[in-house]
Amino acid sequence: MSDSDSTKLVYSFSSGRADGNAGQRELLGGKGAGLAEMTNLGIPVPPGFTISTAVCAHYSDAAQNGAEGAARYPKGMWNDVEQAMGVVEQATGCKFGASQKPLLVSVRSGAAVSMPGMMDTILNLGLNETTVEALATETDNPRFAWDSYRRFIQMYGNVVLGVGTAKFEHLLEQAMKARQIERDSELEASDLMELVPKYLALVETETGGKFPTDPMDQLHGAIEAVLNSWNNERAVLYRRIHRIHTLKGTAVNVQAMVFGNMGEDSGTGVCFTRDPSTGENTPFGEFLTNAQGEDVVAGVRTPTPLSELEKVLPEASADLHEAMDKLEHHFKDMQDLEFTIQHGKLYLLQTRNGKRTATAALEIAADMVKNGILTPEEALLKIDAMALDQLLHPSFDPKADKKRLATGIPASPGCVVGHVALTPDRAEEMTDAGKQVILVRLETSPEDLKGMAKSLGFLTARGGKTSHAAVVARQMGKSCIAGCSTLAIDGDTFKLGERSFTEGDVISLDGALGEVYEGAIPTVDRGLPETFQQIMSWADDARRMKVRTNSETPTDCKKAREFGAEGIGLCRTEHMFFEEDRIQNVRRMILAGTPQERVEAIGGLLPMQRGDFEEIFTIMDDLPVNIRLLDPPLHEFLPHDAESQRVLAESVGIEVSEVARRVEALGETNPMLGHRGCRLGITHPEIYDMQMRAILEAAINVTAKGIKVHPEIMIPLAATDRELANLRARLLRVADTVFAEKGSKVAFQIGTMIEVPRAALTAGQLAAEAEFFSFGTNDLTQMTFGFSRDDVAGFLPRYIELGLIPVDPFDSLDKDGVGRLMKIAVDDGRATRSNLKIGICGESGGDPASIEFCESLGMTYVSCSPYRIPTARLAAAQAAIRARKS
Ligand code: PEP
Ligand code: MG
Repeated sequence: MSDSDSTKLVYSFSSGRADGNAGQRELLGGKGAGLAEMTNLGIPVPPGFTISTAVCAHYSDAAQNGAEGAARYPKGMWNDVEQAMGVVEQATGCKFGASQKPLLVSVRSGAAVSMPGMMDTILNLGLNETTVEALATETDNPRFAWDSYRRFIQMYGNVVLGVGTAKFEHLLEQAMKARQIERDSELEASDLMELVPKYLALVETETGGKFPTDPMDQLHGAIEAVLNSWNNERAVLYRRIHRIHTLKGTAVNVQAMVFGNMGEDSGTGVCFTRDPSTGENTPFGEFLTNAQGEDVVAGVRTPTPLSELEKVLPEASADLHEAMDKLEHHFKDMQDLEFTIQHGKLYLLQTRNGKRTATAALEIAADMVKNGILTPEEALLKIDAMALDQLLHPSFDPKADKKRLATGIPASPGCVVGHVALTPDRAEEMTDAGKQVILVRLETSPEDLKGMAKSLGFLTARGGKTSHAAVVARQMGKSCIAGCSTLAIDGDTFKLGERSFTEGDVISLDGALGEVYEGAIPTVDRGLPETFQQIMSWADDARRMKVRTNSETPTDCKKAREFGAEGIGLCRTEHMFFEEDRIQNVRRMILAGTPQERVEAIGGLLPMQRGDFEEIFTIMDDLPVNIRLLDPPLHEFLPHDAESQRVLAESVGIEVSEVARRVEALGETNPMLGHRGCRLGITHPEIYDMQMRAILEAAINVTAKGIKVHPEIMIPLAATDRELANLRARLLRVADTVFAEKGSKVAFQIGTMIEVPRAALTAGQLAAEAEFFSFGTNDLTQMTFGFSRDDVAGFLPRYIELGLIPVDPFDSLDKDGVGRLMKIAVDDGRATRSNLKIGICGESGGDPASIEFCESLGMTYVSCSPYRIPTARLAAAQAAIRARKS
């Protein structure tokens, strides 16, 4: 075997000694690392070896570059495999392919991150005409030997040689029919001996070649198939969905077979050291006697609960409990084990950290701290921050039947059931009539807000994770699936793929998975577990960054405080402009013929805005409140259909043709790059003047009532320091006027969003005019990639599928590009102003990987929608703990 570690390709584990250990997950895969560690711990593991993930990486690269056969493997690998087989032979006292005591092995995949069922497995490898006879004689069980052979031919024939399983099953059924029996377990040795040649003939007909009889050839074929399965369709899809994009490949584990189907003193099972749904500290699992692993998975026989094992096989049960205890304490985490019992002797085939519900994750972490297994900080690192979302939303009953109608971009989590409304007005009507409603639209716009507020969830044909529907959904804690490209709407009917529906029909949305189901799926709401507050308080102790919220309604602000928000990181004031009592004034302002008319219309908005801010300051007593001045282009506030334009013209007292002309004139080819943000503030300064006045008057009014205010006034979309200087000077003049009028002052800060690459690149200059920065990563990502955030659904999923982009950059920060701009902005900004406050308020502010990056930049806070705050608190803590460790 190669002796230098960096070139070592094959790692043995046998007779209580392993070349590898649990720290080598990347290299040995989770399964391989677990087997090595268990071997080192003296836990009974059948001997074997692991071919490292580096081999898979080499193989995939070589295959992609057109290499064939042996040229796809690193030099010397097959030699190492043969030597490692020798070690297994020695440990077991059996010989591969021998006519006496033949060695049989399993060949299984195992990447660093578990991908259950995604790649291939082959059992009973090494059987042929000679070894099957030896197995029959030595076990004194010909039925067992011939059944193992039949299963092997089927598995190998399917996985390695590509013969459809159904064709084997057909032959099996014929054999059962001939014997007039219902179960294959009733076939006798003689039946199986007749069936095997038929299986072999099937392989020959289907492939044009003979089934390999040389065990070493079989081993070559199986290893190659496992390496190929790394890039099969379902494995690639799994990695895409679970954002697994840094792995080099799978490891291959070759291990001596142990048999759970050698009689009633044998068996096989799976178990967790604790209950993975509740977290309760009681082992949980099931087993089958006289069965192989696949029988448990196939569900042909109903497995027995683990608690019964003690009665059936007491010694093996005691050994299993001892091993569970040892492994849980060793790994300091709940383990998920696979075991086989052969003639009463226990073997462990796998151990890994078990998957669990969010509730179980919290329970287990808290319990392990209580029992001194983990420190609070270690416990925090064991919890998947993203999964906390699960706790705040109901989920579909996992046992319910679901018929999937369509898939889109999972834009906001939550499982909801409702009648479909195709317009916001219908959504309102239907909700007011007592129905639960899902709003289904091609896309949404701020005009739809009222109807959106009345709906439980949104399904849109267009847009991605930062589309209007997605942002609003996350903010309101509603479910949203965006970019559902198979959705078509026509009047009061709509189609999902080939299926047609009418408004009012019932559908179910799983916003976390991005899946739409037919009809009503029952939901379960587990509520917050008792340990939630405990874990959150440990997280708060551990984190450095503050966590704020993106909220602008009193309801959202209150919810955010409940979830632990430490201020507002983004109050989007445009949402306030759409309220029924204001939109008319906003439209009057836009359509004003004279400056006087405009000032009057804006004046009508002032008391309303002031009222909004008073309410928000009060809810956020003594916490910072970041208010963004108006951002969207004005045409978004005007109606686009003829009827609404007619009503507007009448109410304002101008010709409808004039309204249409103004709407047309305000239209832009690229509105996202157009007349919006601070550009609007420069050309329509009276709007920002009014907003500044409303903020400061509100601040002074509530201060008089004993509320402590910390207003931050944020200028959107700045690209140059001169824009900021211009607006800042004007805002300061407004402040002077208001303070003089009121005879009272409040402290405030003026800062800017960093949303345009130029702003990041010239942050040193901008910081001279700004007391804080907030990264608007929605726009910054849009402008850095040149991807329209509302139109990515057409190509981004394909990009991700092809691996051209690892994850949706609107969801999780692109560290190389957008992140680099952020780093420049942080460094240059702080070089100019050392105490510059820096936050993030784009959607990635609630994404754990992005939060970790923000920690690495030394940012002051992250801000996200209310329902993501617990996730952000935990993720910020995890980031801080990891940063301290490294
Ligand atoms: C941003 O661009 O990241 C942002 C928060 O602003 P908006 O989404 O409102 O454009
Ligand atoms: Mg923006």
